[in-house]
Amino acid sequence: MASFRKIALCELAKHEAKRAFIEDRPITSYFAENVFDENKMRRYMSLTALNSIQEAIKEGKKIDRNVADEIATAMKNWAIEKGVTHYTHLFQPLNGSTAEKHDAFIDVKDGKAFEKFTGKSLVQQEPDASSFPNGGLRNTFEARGYSAWDPNSPVFILDDTLCIPSVFVSYTGDALDMKVPHLRSISALSEAATAVVNLFDKKVSSVTVNIGLEQEYFLVDSSLYKARPDLKLCDRTVLGHTSAKDQQLSDHYFGAIPSRVVSFMKDFETEAYKLGIQLETRHNEVAPNQFECVPVFCDATKAIDQNMLLMIIMQKVADKHHLKVIFHEKPFDGVNGSGKHCNWSLQTDTKVNLLTPGKTPNKNLLFLAFYSSIVRAVHKYDLLLMSSICSLSNSYRLGGHEAPPAIMSIFSGSTLSKVFDSIMNMKDMDDDVTLENIKIANSIPDILTDNTDRNRTSPFAFTGNRFEFRALGASMNPAAATFVLNSVVAESLKVFKAKVDALENKGEERKAAVLTVIREFLLDSKDIMFEGNGYSKEWQEEAKKRGLNSITNVVEAFKSYIDDKNIDMFSKLGVLSRNEAYARYEVFNELYVKKLQIEARVLGDICFNHILPAAVNYRNTLLESIKSCKEVFGDEYKTICEADMKIYRKISEYVNSLSADVSALIDARKEANVIENMSQRAYLYSTKVKEYMHKVRYSADHLEMLIDDELWPLPKYRELLFF
Ligand code: ADP
Ligand code: MG
Repeated sequence: MASFRKIALCELAKHEAKRAFIEDRPITSYFAENVFDENKMRRYMSLTALNSIQEAIKEGKKIDRNVADEIATAMKNWAIEKGVTHYTHLFQPLNGSTAEKHDAFIDVKDGKAFEKFTGKSLVQQEPDASSFPNGGLRNTFEARGYSAWDPNSPVFILDDTLCIPSVFVSYTGDALDMKVPHLRSISALSEAATAVVNLFDKKVSSVTVNIGLEQEYFLVDSSLYKARPDLKLCDRTVLGHTSAKDQQLSDHYFGAIPSRVVSFMKDFETEAYKLGIQLETRHNEVAPNQFECVPVFCDATKAIDQNMLLMIIMQKVADKHHLKVIFHEKPFDGVNGSGKHCNWSLQTDTKVNLLTPGKTPNKNLLFLAFYSSIVRAVHKYDLLLMSSICSLSNSYRLGGHEAPPAIMSIFSGSTLSKVFDSIMNMKDMDDDVTLENIKIANSIPDILTDNTDRNRTSPFAFTGNRFEFRALGASMNPAAATFVLNSVVAESLKVFKAKVDALENKGEERKAAVLTVIREFLLDSKDIMFEGNGYSKEWQEEAKKRGLNSITNVVEAFKSYIDDKNIDMFSKLGVLSRNEAYARYEVFNELYVKKLQIEARVLGDICFNHILPAAVNYRNTLLESIKSCKEVFGDEYKTICEADMKIYRKISEYVNSLSADVSALIDARKEANVIENMSQRAYLYSTKVKEYMHKVRYSADHLEMLIDDELWPLPKYRELLFF
């Protein structure tokens, strides 16, 4: 019987580049057609209702019950005209994904059917959803869980269902999701940032966070994917020998996009446009079969919701193309993994980007106030920030040479570094930190260099008018990291304001006071600034000397959430209570253990059910051939079959070590599973269980190189990674 791999390879040959649906209208005619945006609100509801939504967004005002009824009716009317039958509260539980439970509009009274959707159903639902991780905040037998409409993001239609972006909280109001802390951090940051801006400009009354998320992903043919139990169950390969050629030649990066992939991209972009997601960039990434798509930045809440939605759409559209999208941070060993770079900036309600240095950054005190506060925040909370991107899946690429280094640092670029040096040394600077033109060739116009160079090895790089937090993993809910970034910056800005106030109270002039605090922040935190290669050994040593934290084990990093300093910061800002912080810590450990447990199980199963049988089978073939040779050639067989016997012995060696290591892996799991304390259990998983997984993989990957290709049961890296 043909193996799954062989069948998959035959099916792969039939999969061609083909659009799943052609949208021949211009993009402008269908952009955001499935979103209940302001234009549609104007058509379907009164101005009072619209205003109350806008006030809820701007000022956090509660929406009146009667108005909620009107809004719900407007949404329902719009949706029904578009053939919608159900509605759902879409929320973002702590397991990092999205959750939905659909309810029908249809109701029947006195035998007559009608569509019903009230303000009550819009504003609040009780989805039960008791199986989501909650870290002890909710005991299934006593506490309810509520999803509540979040008016910050517009409702939209997906799969004939009206989707209502929502938060998810416990009966006691504790956050059970990623969104609640995010929203709280946005408010805290707006308040703290506004107070600092008001030192310079009284007209500003709020500050928003803008985010642009670069989404990396792999594409794998669906038939090959289905023939790999590890991809199906873990979203990553737990074994597989590297392909002789992968990314060495950098010939995939920014290369011509394969036709099959372009068809897929065009189709999911069409769907994204209909949902108001403004995608602007698509390209091949470094690893083979790795790609990236980038939307235009927007308000953080919307950007994060759209990113979660985009991941859903991409997966749905991929199905129509016989493709699977892999968002896992490290699906294949030996090639680059996938991140989700988060471009982050702050903007006033008067539309000023607070991270714009301007032509003379040395004189731009507003910019310097914000920059130095961010530097202080990243320095003071370096470990917490790095912890915010930690998960089992991101741990596989952390500290590797392509991925974010395990040490937090800020890259500012040479121009700004000069400015900071002069401030710290109390030297005046020439005004003209002018940028020079670069001459290329006669026929080509000179190019103007940017204010900052790029540093791809920095986890937190300033890129001209924003920071690029480069350590986020491709699969994660970005809010898990941005709520931390927002919070630590808010805390820093509060300290900034307090210090300026104190100096002013002592009679210092505002400008001098501001400059004093900027200098103090830069001097105290300069150790976090690093312009060199973040992947180098020298930096690791240098960072150690500077006393910077480094993540060696993500389970250890989770402890940042329950560090008193951090709990204090979160609770003072009203972002997370002590209970909520502890709950998160529990959940992250629990998820780590459960996911690694699944990976270890899958690895063991594959070895026993797929690899060992194939190895033994091939070994028998060799033995039969050696035996026959002996029959025909007598003692000469020893020379004739020298290679066969060598391979036989090698296979036997790996078969034995593989089988012993799988048993040891099972024992390691058993040993870990009896540990009550979830953090200690996770630690044992991260050390001992992982160690045996490496050993098992080592033998399995060597067997892959020895066994007849015809007999190898799993699609190989060279097949998975190249169309
Ligand atoms: P890169 O060169 O870093 O790969 P990309 O073009 O892939 O850049 O992505 C840059 C992202 O940064 C886009 O989402 C873009 O909209 C976003 N961006 C640009 N300006 C800002 C800003 N001021 N604040 C936040 N994000 C921004
Ligand atoms: Mg990019």
